[in-house]
Amino acid sequence: MEQPVLEIVDLQAAYGPSQVLFGVTVRVPKGKVVALLGRNGAGKTTTMKAAMGILPPRGGQVRLRGQDVTGRRPSALARLGIGYVPEDRRIFPDLTVKENLAIASRPGPGGRRTWTVEKVLELFPLLGRLMGRKGGLLSGGEQQLLAVARALVGNPEVLLLDEPTEGLAPVMVKAVADVVQALKREGVTMLLAEQNLGFANQVADWGYVLQKGQVLLEGPMEVCARSEEVVRALAV
Ligand code: ATP
Repeated sequence: MEQPVLEIVDLQAAYGPSQVLFGVTVRVPKGKVVALLGRNGAGKTTTMKAAMGILPPRGGQVRLRGQDVTGRRPSALARLGIGYVPEDRRIFPDLTVKENLAIASRPGPGGRRTWTVEKVLELFPLLGRLMGRKGGLLSGGEQQLLAVARALVGNPEVLLLDEPTEGLAPVMVKAVADVVQALKREGVTMLLAEQNLGFANQVADWGYVLQKGQVLLEGPMEVCARSEEVVRALAV
């Protein structure tokens, strides 16, 4: 088997005294889209934060192209090739769309410059029409598109997307889904946290179902989507 781009192995994480991840193992192969599924509080966001070094793991390992990067700072992990779009997007509200993209634009590991601002705008024509608008004046869906585009111009080797469709109007859910699908066709490796099984099934190759900070099961996404156990695990 080819070495996965990102491997999260036996990850343990806690907020103060309360442990929330109990040995989570997730592998993201090159060019694949892997979904972390689970209801609110299952540990999807915590897994991403721990992988990104925002919440230093209490145990286990994070490996990028086989290299142990556990405990590195978020800025170092970004330079090494992990792109992260947090649930709350964190775009700069006082900067324009163009400026938000310009400050994030840089070559990836090895000097790779696949994703220039121009190339990204080909996939996000809506953003092209909003280049002069301040980030804070965008709708939630437009901000989500900008957050994904901004992560992409950093030329990551793997992109972590935390619930990209959450809270969006249906028309923007479709716009974000279209973008994620386009990225998949372009071969972008992604780890996607998602509660929406329908959306996950449209884009993901493989699913991991989290429950109470552990992997309940994993498998091909279309098998996960049909599994009654998975549907139960995701039901609120
Ligand atoms: P969500 O969709 O709500 O983000 P999730 O599956 O991503 O759900 P996490 O956010 O990873 O779940 O939360 C896992 C557990 O950690 C939950 O029990 C949650 O209450 C707890 N938790 C999350 N953030 C904190 C925090 N900052 N301090 C303490 N506990 C937290």
